[in-house]
Amino acid sequence: MKYVDEFRDGEQARQIAKKISALVKELGVSKKEPLQFMEVCGGHTHSIFRYGLTQFLPDEIEFVHGPGCPVCVLPMGVVDDCVSIAERDNVIFTTFGDAMRVPGSKKSLLQAKAEGSDIRMVYSPLDALQIAKDNPDKEVVFFGLGFETTMPSTALTILQADKENINNFALFCNHITIIPTIKAMLDSPDMRLDGFLGPGHVSMVIGTQPYEFIARDYHRPLVNAGFEPLDILQSVYMLVKQLLEKRCEVENQYKRIVPPEGNKVALQSIAEVFELREFFEWRGLGSIDHSGVRIKPKYAQYDAELKYELPKLKIADPDSAQCGEVVTGVIKPNECKLFGKACTPETPIGALMVSTEGACAAHYHYGQIEIPLSEVGR
Ligand code: SF4
Repeated sequence: MKYVDEFRDGEQARQIAKKISALVKELGVSKKEPLQFMEVCGGHTHSIFRYGLTQFLPDEIEFVHGPGCPVCVLPMGVVDDCVSIAERDNVIFTTFGDAMRVPGSKKSLLQAKAEGSDIRMVYSPLDALQIAKDNPDKEVVFFGLGFETTMPSTALTILQADKENINNFALFCNHITIIPTIKAMLDSPDMRLDGFLGPGHVSMVIGTQPYEFIARDYHRPLVNAGFEPLDILQSVYMLVKQLLEKRCEVENQYKRIVPPEGNKVALQSIAEVFELREFFEWRGLGSIDHSGVRIKPKYAQYDAELKYELPKLKIADPDSAQCGEVVTGVIKPNECKLFGKACTPETPIGALMVSTEGACAAHYHYGQIEIPLSEVGR
């Protein structure tokens, strides 16, 4: 296929769905105990809701929306740390736009900006570096977040700052890493998963080999999946086929983007600049060993955590917010008591309602609309 429309063809979607239904029947899955596939990446969550893919699938298949939206798993305490840096007189704080509205315990970055702090949205860490060059009398801090997908661009920016000897630039590093996170989900006693849709964008960087332990040690299949509707449906088909054939393997549906060995240049830049933290705190999931990275001592002069004294407080979500249960797939987004009432995209209480990739925001925008199959694929 060559053009994006071809990946959204309604008729082909129906054909794949028929084949999935036939496999599910052959497998003898009951509606009471459906197959549960976790889509690790928030981009998949968004596509599943946006294109109404659950309407195509039999009731015997359910998606569990995983932790792969980096904004959604930001603890409130980290937002408070961002605000405390941004409120300093001499600082220009820079961030990707979707982090602006994540609630902190007192305010979001957007509210801090409205109160006068110099907070700027950027599209790349290199934009933040340029702001530092343009404002030599200010300290410019970039809020680095995301999985291995965004880590290389942050690493390359640090290397560029070092090469150009730019001293008024720092990184508040909250990058996270996917493999320990998936392992923590598999080790959770609450979790009953039959397979994974692998995160296509992360896999573009890390390749397919790091997932092998999931098939080998946990006996679950994983299919690295693209983000268009037909990509996702084909990946579900591949998962069910593995189960029927009693195989547990790592397969790659997203071959047009994901090389098995990953991106060597990107991996080298990550290895040069970052090292694993002992543990990292996730919203809704708690502390996960080795699931985050920090700047290596060699580049310590760019580390905002060393440059500024931060509150570093652990702030719990409001009792009524059930973000943790949604992230771990224990409940569906609309089963949270606050969904669509106190918590909406305009007034988010939990981070899952902020980002377009958040399960609650995706469900709020698309999940309540029954899209006629005839209209899908227009
Ligand atoms: S509706 Fe709001 S509070 Fe409830 S789980 Fe979703 S984001 Fe969290």
